[in-house]
Amino acid sequence: MSTLAYIGLGANLGNARQTIAAAIDALRQSSGILTLKQAPLYSSDPVDAQGPIFINTVVAIDTTLEPLSLLDRLQAIEQEHGRERPYRNAPRTLDLDLLLYGTFTIDTPRLSVPHPRMHHRAFVLRPLKDLTPDLQLAQGSFTTLLAGCQDQKLDRLVD
Ligand code: AMP
Repeated sequence: MSTLAYIGLGANLGNARQTIAAAIDALRQSSGILTLKQAPLYSSDPVDAQGPIFINTVVAIDTTLEPLSLLDRLQAIEQEHGRERPYRNAPRTLDLDLLLYGTFTIDTPRLSVPHPRMHHRAFVLRPLKDLTPDLQLAQGSFTTLLAGCQDQKLDRLVD
C-alpha cells in the first residue's frame, strides 16, 4: 500500500535551480518512492530566512516509506545535494519539508505533519495548488490562504 505525500523544496545558495533538479532526481531514484509529479518552479523572497531569493517547488509522491523513513531520506538528500562546503557547518543550500503525508496528523519531536507553517507560505501554497487545486486544507481554501500572504513576493519561473 502506498501513500500520497507532498514535499516542499527550496534552495537559495549556489546554483539553486540545479540543486532543486538534483534533489528531485534523487527523490525519483529513491526506493520506496513509486511516482513523482512536480509543480512549476517559483522564485520567492526569503521568509524567516536570510540571503538571496529562493527557488521553490512542490512535488507529489506515491510512497511506501513510513513518515520517519521518508524524513530520513529527505535529510540525506539535503546533506548530499544541499551543502556548499566553503567552511565547516556552512549554511544549508537546500531545504526539504514533508508537507502532507496522506491525511495523517503526526506530532513528534522530529516530525510535525501537516507542516506547521505551510499555510502561511505562498511559496508552498501556490505550487501545491498547481499540483492539486481541489485539495482542502484544514486551515481553509487555497484562495483564502493565498489572500493572507499577498505581501510575499512570488514569481513563476519560465521553464
Ligand atoms: P529546517 O531547518 O527548517 O529544515 O528544520 C529541520 C528540522 O525540522 C529537523 O530537525 C526535522 O526533524 C524537523 N521537522 C519537523 N517537522 C518536519 C517536517 N514536516 N518536514 C521536515 N522537517 C521537519
